[in-house]
Amino acid sequence: AGTGTFFVGGNWKCNGTKESISKLVSDLNNAKLEDDVDVAVAPPFIYIDQVKASLTSRIEISAQNSWVGKGGAFTGEISAEQLKDIGCKWAILGHSERRHIIGEDDQFIGKKAAYALSQGLGVIACIGELLEEREAGKTFDVCYQQLKAFSDAVPSWDNIVIAYEPVWAIGTGKVATPQQAQEVHIAVRNWLKKNISEEVASKTRIIYGGSVNGGNCSELAKQEDIDGFLVGGASLKGPEFATIVNSVT
Ligand code: PEP
Repeated sequence: AGTGTFFVGGNWKCNGTKESISKLVSDLNNAKLEDDVDVAVAPPFIYIDQVKASLTSRIEISAQNSWVGKGGAFTGEISAEQLKDIGCKWAILGHSERRHIIGEDDQFIGKKAAYALSQGLGVIACIGELLEEREAGKTFDVCYQQLKAFSDAVPSWDNIVIAYEPVWAIGTGKVATPQQAQEVHIAVRNWLKKNISEEVASKTRIIYGGSVNGGNCSELAKQEDIDGFLVGGASLKGPEFATIVNSVT
């Protein structure tokens, strides 16, 4: 950790029921979270209102996705305006499950980011390579291309957190080593320096995601360019998520 306030996001994905979420919220409300960490959770859309009404305001709310433009005749979608209305601060965009299972492409994701920012949401902008891309030596190229798509679309990086999430590490239990993660994080920072500005490079938080848990978080958090985490599976357990939030201290 080295840049800005440590940021930890919990991505609940398509998990939970009213009952299990009520238990998770109560565990989070009872957890001791260090002051100097930004914390957000991303419930499924339909539970955001329940979470917003019951969760401590210490923890911010993120959406897991948002529509690419103004709301209207887009069946099944949720707009950035609606997310703001219901009290969301953030939207996770470009998550690998949306890129690779749903088929969202770089340009579409870039537009979503620009629109979400225009409505006052912060964006957790996800990038990361597939296993075959890593094995073919393309990790940096893939990450740079995904970064460029965000950068071509957004007017400013002020309200963006970058999440580096190697796809082979997501939900697999196979975490990147601290060295593997640091190597990409510093490359991302250098890309920002070269292609955006020194200032953006030195201010933008770059968080790591991919099988982060209570056992591996502190070694990762020690890396100079790892400024937080995006956590999937382990964010469904309140006490473990709190351990990850507190791993930087
Ligand atoms: C994620 O989906 O953002 C993620 C990192 O998942 P997991 O922690 O379960 O690998």
